[in-house]
Amino acid sequence: MPSYQSPLRDLRFVYHELLQAGETLAQLPVFEEATPDLVDAVLDEGAKLFEQVIQPLNLSGDKQGCRFDNGVVTTPDGFREAYRAYVEGGWGSLAGDPEYGGQGLPETVSFMLEEMLTSANVSFSLYPGLTRGAISAISSHADEALKRIYLEKMVSGSWSGTMCLTEPHAGTDLGLVRTRAEDNGDGSYAITGTKIFITGGEQDLTENIIHLVLARLPDAPAGVKGISLFLVPKFLPDADNEPGEYNSVSCGSIEHKMGIKASSTCVMNFDRARGFLVGPANRGLSCMFTMMNAERLAIGIQGLGLGEVAYQNAVSYARERLQSRSASGTKAPQLAADPLLVHPDIRRMLLTTRAYNEGARALAVWTALNIDLSHHHPEPQQRAAAEDLVSLITPVIKAFFSDYGYECTTLCQQVLGGHGYIHEWGMEQFVRDARIAQIYEGTNGVQALDLVRRKLSIHDGRLPAAFFELLAGYIDSERENLALQPYLRVFEEAFELLRALTEWLSVEGLKDADELGAAASDYLRLFALTTLAWFWTRMIAVAQQRQDGAESAFYRTKIQTGRFFFGRLLPQVRSLDSAIRSGADLMMAVDESAF
Ligand SMILES: Cc1cc2nc3c(=O)[nH]c(=O)nc-3n(C[C@H](O)[C@H](O)[C@H](O)COP(=O)(O)OP(=O)(O)OC[C@H]3O[C@@H](n4cnc5c(N)ncnc54)[C@H](O)[C@@H]3O)c2cc1C
Repeated sequence: MPSYQSPLRDLRFVYHELLQAGETLAQLPVFEEATPDLVDAVLDEGAKLFEQVIQPLNLSGDKQGCRFDNGVVTTPDGFREAYRAYVEGGWGSLAGDPEYGGQGLPETVSFMLEEMLTSANVSFSLYPGLTRGAISAISSHADEALKRIYLEKMVSGSWSGTMCLTEPHAGTDLGLVRTRAEDNGDGSYAITGTKIFITGGEQDLTENIIHLVLARLPDAPAGVKGISLFLVPKFLPDADNEPGEYNSVSCGSIEHKMGIKASSTCVMNFDRARGFLVGPANRGLSCMFTMMNAERLAIGIQGLGLGEVAYQNAVSYARERLQSRSASGTKAPQLAADPLLVHPDIRRMLLTTRAYNEGARALAVWTALNIDLSHHHPEPQQRAAAEDLVSLITPVIKAFFSDYGYECTTLCQQVLGGHGYIHEWGMEQFVRDARIAQIYEGTNGVQALDLVRRKLSIHDGRLPAAFFELLAGYIDSERENLALQPYLRVFEEAFELLRALTEWLSVEGLKDADELGAAASDYLRLFALTTLAWFWTRMIAVAQQRQDGAESAFYRTKIQTGRFFFGRLLPQVRSLDSAIRSGADLMMAVDESAF
């Protein structure tokens, strides 16, 4: 049976010591109550619920899965009670707007809890996760009347939210969406169509389900410029704002799939269901992007959460499993063989996972801090600058975290040998659960295209220019820090490579658009590794200052893990750079008939 312990010490290191997030947030009047002590207490309490109530349902939920019977979806045993405990404890409303009953805590805190929740149980995390995304779209784009009716129940978690984009013939290319919306003439619209793969489209956890649906008005232009966004409740709220008349939204079936089996993935049929326009007509996709961007970050966090829980279980196994003697001399002569942990190859797999996890955690919390700044900083320029950073980093977090999450859950499975392949050990579930994050919410290939085609070039390249300036500024600020130079130099080399490659891509991409597509996935990885190198340099700098004081073992391990990152993982940037520069022709010159 796998286990999980929330990485509270490392989260506190990132939040308090590395980012000094408390001081940054204290500049924002809305968060004056989010004192460091309160944040620590919230993390402690969250950890208890996730470890004691939600994680124990992970393996059984995978085995049992969701059940479908005549339109009714039943989640695995224990999920309803756990969801009730989650809602009653106020965990869904933590970062919610106080105007709608939320607790108004920073997103930064919510991100840290999200990592723990996804480690404990990814399937469970998806139900409240999509609700949070739907809340952000409704808050940003719906009119006041809709907000008054729906937000309070959704913030509390008693009603949930879904995201209805995908149709059988329209996945990545949402311009092909066919679901129709006709004006009823009374402020509502009749929505007709079928959506597939809808996470939480039907479930037995909440009193009502609020679907956010992309559909087309009769006179809408073709393509993405003719899509509108509608709010379609399962039950229409009555005069007391309780679930009333049943709307004609039904679940046709649920999918049988590779992982996240306790999360319902539904075919949803809308048969002239009553819906309400959110945002302007024909601007639905850009409104939906508010939800999609929130989800993309949350899905990246799934890679980190699974990487962490897989690492913890692989370490426990490697300590206890005795196989062979160490090549450099017996380490445990009193035992029949040495523990797996003595073997360099086992350490390679464990440290790869750990180094990615800790770098990713720092990047995630820093990004969340920028989300808070982008919403609440008193200076408009500071808000805009923070928003640029979040926008640039979002595809990187979504794709890189989910890619490494899958790679590393597989590495950790490998540590368990044959037992890693057996269900009861939990590792094969982590691998299966990790795989979907590379696919949904815009595949990782599409994230990479978003980075190279859009984020690098919008506003005349303002986003990468500001980010690179930040990195260059950091490098300059640490030139006199002698102890840091070995790491700073390697980070700077990777940074120069990234900068030169970005320049190369902007030139080659103008000559041949396929050059951007050919480079995209490798470029995103190189970008992510360089960004992690920035965080690793910063983490080592903090740890070097503290390694001789209290908790020296923690700081020394931090430095050693960082050394591993620089020595074994960052060098990938060179091969990625060389692969990208080999050009699109290697793929595009192959005749279609040759495939
Ligand atoms: C378990 C699960 C849960 C899901 N939950 C939801 C949900 O809640 N709501 C929802 O609306 N959808 C949901 N989805 C759908 C998911 O977001 C889509 O499957 C995903 O976006 C990809 O679309 P597709 O499957 O149609 O693949 P396609 O779009 O057909 O893509 C197939 C392949 O082609 C590549 N590709 C496509 N276009 C391009 C291009 N222009 N350039 C380069 N490569 C390209 C893709 O990267 C991919 O590798 C879910 C899917 C699953 C499996």
